[in-house]
Amino acid sequence: MEVVRLGNPILREVASSISDVDDPQIQTLIDEMLATTLATDGVGLAAPQVGRSLRLVVVASRPNPRYPDAPMMEPTAMANPRVVRYSDERLFGWEGCLSVPGKRGWIPRYREIEVEYWDRGGYLQRRVLQDFVARIFQHEFDHLEGLVFLDRVECPSHVVSEAEYWERLEQLDRDRELSDG
Ligand code: ZN
Repeated sequence: MEVVRLGNPILREVASSISDVDDPQIQTLIDEMLATTLATDGVGLAAPQVGRSLRLVVVASRPNPRYPDAPMMEPTAMANPRVVRYSDERLFGWEGCLSVPGKRGWIPRYREIEVEYWDRGGYLQRRVLQDFVARIFQHEFDHLEGLVFLDRVECPSHVVSEAEYWERLEQLDRDRELSDG
């Protein structure tokens, strides 16, 4: 599937709830989103990014060239996801987005969240997500609200080009640790 990019108005819409996960069109969309996530070295994807303004995300953390330190998990489709609990603690981390090519941002996210969603079998699931996986969820959930990671930067200088990010990765991390304590 083609991933739409920043400037496409669908990325700024609030997505609609899914009434029936069993609908064959939704099942096909899930298959296509999972395949697209794997093919693009993404660790997550939201339906608006593939041109469908629906409350559906894929969370699929695993190590890959774009995120070498990502933990391994079973790729999971989540329909009508919501957060039922946030930790007090927030952590900064670098994020990129298939819809915002060539950029990385230093973004604060809650370290731990408890979430509810409908799985692709139509069952309501509740689980606790932590660290990088919690970050992915919050990033993808934002897409359902018409937000992208650039909206979450606390300072414009926290957005860098992806090429510079890779060249200066260690230096950037050191600087951020210093400036953020
Ligand atoms: Zn994104």
